[in-house]
Amino acid sequence: MDNFDRDHLWHPYTSATNPLPTYKVASADGVYITLEDGRRLLEGMSSWWCTIHGYNNPVINDAAKRQIDKMSHVMFGGLTHEPAIELGKLLLSIVPPSMNNIFYADSGSVAVEVALKMAVQYQAARGESRKENIVTVRSGYHGDTWNAMSVCDPVGGMHSLFGPSLPKRLFADAPKSRFDGEWDPTDIEPLKRVIEKNGDTLAAIIIEPVVQGAGGMRMYHPEYLRQAAALAREHGMLVIFDEIATGFGRTGRMFAWEHAGVEPDIMCIGKGLTGGYTTMSAVLATKHVATTISSAAPGVFMHGPTFMGNPLACAVAIASTRLLLESPWQERVARIERELKEGLAPARELDSVADVRVLGAIGVIELKNAVDMESIQRSLVDKGVWLRPFGKLLYTMPQYIMTSDETEKLCRVMVETAKEQRA
Ligand SMILES: *Cc1c(COP(=O)(O)O)cnc(C)c1O
Repeated sequence: MDNFDRDHLWHPYTSATNPLPTYKVASADGVYITLEDGRRLLEGMSSWWCTIHGYNNPVINDAAKRQIDKMSHVMFGGLTHEPAIELGKLLLSIVPPSMNNIFYADSGSVAVEVALKMAVQYQAARGESRKENIVTVRSGYHGDTWNAMSVCDPVGGMHSLFGPSLPKRLFADAPKSRFDGEWDPTDIEPLKRVIEKNGDTLAAIIIEPVVQGAGGMRMYHPEYLRQAAALAREHGMLVIFDEIATGFGRTGRMFAWEHAGVEPDIMCIGKGLTGGYTTMSAVLATKHVATTISSAAPGVFMHGPTFMGNPLACAVAIASTRLLLESPWQERVARIERELKEGLAPARELDSVADVRVLGAIGVIELKNAVDMESIQRSLVDKGVWLRPFGKLLYTMPQYIMTSDETEKLCRVMVETAKEQRA
């Protein structure tokens, strides 16, 4: 048995000396991954929100191959290329109408870094250099790099571990009104208090619209977003929407801001952007943000990644986004939503279950107790599905091409697995 992986490769969020077991994948096709031992697993995670069209899609494969034969990469400083331009045009046709300027970046976390820097540089350009901090809500997740981490939930993100060098952000309690429930007008009070007290030092609010992803898979009322944006603007702050998880149809709308009808000043996208083929993200901003930054010294936005606008990633993103737009994605996501609602409903009756919630192609069973990762993972694999629970959350984000039979199997396994958990 070759232990190289175990002995030398760090995997996310597991010990380097006593890691959780890994399952070796030989290939992936459609909604299935095939392990090296021959087992075929129904993949219910879209590899962390990314592979919206499933694996090994011939159209995206072809786009990648054609681009590779022209050029895989050229620097974006002083050069440009058709894939970057075409992708930009395509993106501007689907994001909020006020978005005008696009900054291509490497990953979701980097997009968040870029967005926060943009907000601070924007305020400095207006002579508001005191406005350099950020407010957000608890239970959020915005990535693992330093500044992205600073706006993640302070408890879930273990801010105490990183000491005083982690920037101190301002946090308001997360919205409690459920997406599908009544709006409770007191829900906005915590954020209102923080902004009214600290508005003159705040550059921006950053928030995941409607669905808080990795920070707890919470789905909140769109009215919160409207009121939060209005409050921020009353205090001269920018509104940053982190749509890295919610974008590209995941919540039933192309982007989740559409549920609330309130547009951001800056928006981060990633994950589904390339259909899960390669890492890439983008930060979009209004013309006002871009021109303000450019109007003051040094006259440029101070960021420029090596792989900015990578042509291969752009070509893949174009193919993936076109594929999405040409597909009946609204009907598919709506059908998956219905099937998840129906299929997961029986879990509500279980003693081990605290809550069940579904929005778009996102289905969540919140358990009363944290799962034991090793045994639950083994049990899920034995049942023929790939899901990656964390904490108390057993959840799925299926590929939009999943059939009704497949979502039914997924739900059945999730309910069975929830039944096996401690009450
Ligand atoms: C995953 C995620 C990120 C970070 O993206 P990476 O590509 O992992 O760096 C940021 N924000 C949200 C909402 C995410 O879901």
